[in-house]
Parts: sequence; structure tokens; C-alpha cells
Amino acid sequence: MVAALFFVLSARLGSLNAVEEALGKGGRRTRWHTWIGGDLPSADRLGEVAALIETDDLRAVLYDHHGRRKRKKTLPPLPGGLRVLILDGHEVGASYLRNCKDCYSREVKHGDEVRTQYYHRYVMAYLLCEGGSVLLDVEMQSKGKGEIDAAMRLLERLQEKCPRAFNVVAGDALYLDPGLCRLVLGYGKDFIAVLKNENRDLIKDFRGLIDFGDAATVDFQYNGRQCHCHDIEGFGSWSQLGSEVRVVSSEETRTVRRQLTKEKETLTSEWLWATSLSKDKANTRTIVRLGHGRWDIENQGFNELVNQWHADHIYHHDVNAIVAILLLLYLVYNLFHVWLDRALKPQLREKYTALHFARLLKAEFYHEASPPT
Ligand SMILES: [Zn+2]
Repeated sequence: MVAALFFVLSARLGSLNAVEEALGKGGRRTRWHTWIGGDLPSADRLGEVAALIETDDLRAVLYDHHGRRKRKKTLPPLPGGLRVLILDGHEVGASYLRNCKDCYSREVKHGDEVRTQYYHRYVMAYLLCEGGSVLLDVEMQSKGKGEIDAAMRLLERLQEKCPRAFNVVAGDALYLDPGLCRLVLGYGKDFIAVLKNENRDLIKDFRGLIDFGDAATVDFQYNGRQCHCHDIEGFGSWSQLGSEVRVVSSEETRTVRRQLTKEKETLTSEWLWATSLSKDKANTRTIVRLGHGRWDIENQGFNELVNQWHADHIYHHDVNAIVAILLLLYLVYNLFHVWLDRALKPQLREKYTALHFARLLKAEFYHEASPPT
């Protein structure tokens, strides 16, 4: 039955009912029945099975998938041998109707009416490699506790199960948390996170040195943007961490052409990161790349997971089922992308988008499931 769930996700059917609709009537046997290993269970039964799956077994499959790809050298590290684990919080399954004892809730105003909305939150972990990413694990946020609490559990598990998979941990401004960063340093690894106003002393000291004209600048092109960077090591002003950090800023300009007016417009933004990575381990350009890693993936990877793989859909409202289905989805996503990168002929990859091949997989499912005409 886990195989049945795997196929629902592979074909991106989006719901357990869709597979029941396609295969459930008439009892005609298809190749899918053979692959699944028998009759397909009902949508309800599939949901119940997801709630009972041993999630650590699925995690072991994902770690094994990563280990195999690392051994086969299909996951080359970033410059300097950096293997970057990105931790990122997300929300799933917002609903006014369905809820469980583990749900988060919030009041949402609709005109004069206030309604209670239920949802779950989780932290996902993925590895940023040269040329791609691998989704590795997920941890649900516990009710009443924050994202960092879940991130630390996730990090402790990954350090135990696959300590050599990563040597840098990256995240948004929330992840510049002293407890989390100390945990990372304690594992002999480095951290990088967005630096925001919460860490005022550090930012003040950094800007003070720049204003004093005491910092060299580095300029380069990255991802269509012109980056003007300051990069200074040795700040001791984040007292809670107990060790020195390096701060890197990047003023970025890029030119876009407005679709409506066709006029060119120059957009500027400023980024600030704090990191324990020394300049020997990662130069300024690498820091900018790592710092943007999450957002680059946010645009490519996570949006793809939500928009094309239905990652924000709750198939069965139960915490174990949500985790099990996310883990299965990560495995499917990793396999699909490694197939695209390694198994497809380059000419085909150039000619068609990834979505085209995903549609072919879905079409194959419906074709096999349909009665012969
Ligand atoms: Zn719930």
C-alpha cells in the first residue's frame, strides 16, 4: 500500500480519491495493479495506511538515496567542498473545517465574521549541491513550540543519521538563533543566516566599519545581478553566541523589462548575512551564493513542490500521515529530478520542460487505467 501512495504522488494525482476514481470501478486489472502489487485500496484506506506508516523507515530510504548519489558522485559539493543543508519552515493544509488535536489555529476575519483556521507547520531540510538539490527530511513543529525547536530536533537527527552529508547549515533570519548556531558549531560545522534588525549591535558595528571606510569592497555578477559587497570577519558583538562571526553585505542591482510598458527598470536590494565560515573556507562570492540558496530554491524547488506536486495538500488529516506523505513526496521528487538529469538524453531535456515529462507520467497512468476503446 506504500507503493500505491508512491504512485499517487509520482503521477501527481493530487488526491487519494483521484486514484480511486481512475482504478476503482470495474475491477479491470492494469499494469498499475501489477506494480502496486494487487488491488488498489480505497482512498480512505490509503489515508489510514499513511497514518500508520513508520516514518523513520521512509527517512532511512531518503538518507540511503542521498548516500547512493553521493557515492556515485551525482551530488558534487559547492566550491571549497561545501555541502549546505538548508532548513526552511513551511505551513501545510490550512482549513476551516478539518482539524486535529495537534493543529495550530488562528482567527481569520471575513468581513464582520471571525473564523478559526487550522493548519500545521513543519521544517524541511534539503541539501544544496552544485547543479541541484536533494530533499532530505522533515520535522513537524510541535504545538506551542516554535520553528527553531523543530529545526534543532531535525538537525540532531541528521547529525546522527548522516553527519557527513553536510558541513554548513543555512537558513533565513530566524535561524540566526544562538542555541541553533551553537549546536551547529558544536558539531564542527558552520552556519550562515540572514542578518536582520533583531541583531542590532552586530549590524551597527558592521555599518560603523563601512562608514569609517575601513572595509574593502568586492564586486561581481551573480545570477543576473550586479553585487557590490562588503565582507568583514571577527565581530564579537553577538554576545549570546560566544564566538566571533563574519558579516557580509551585498547591494544588488538588476535590470528588468516591465511586461506592460516594455521599459527597463533597475531594481536594487540589500542583503546581509552572518556566518561562521572563514574567508579561507568560502570567499565573498560563495557566501552570496549560499546566502541566496534558500531563495533560489524557494523560486525553483519549493514552488515546484507546491504548484506541481501538491505539497501543501493534506491527503489525510493526521500528523503521521502528513509527515509520511511529505517524505514519500521528497523521495519521488528526488527520483524524478535525478531521472531528468541523468537518464534523459540532453537533446530531450533541452527540447522539453520538466513539467512536460511530469505530464507524460500522469498521462501514462490514466492511459493504463482507462478501459480499452
Ligand atoms: Zn491537524
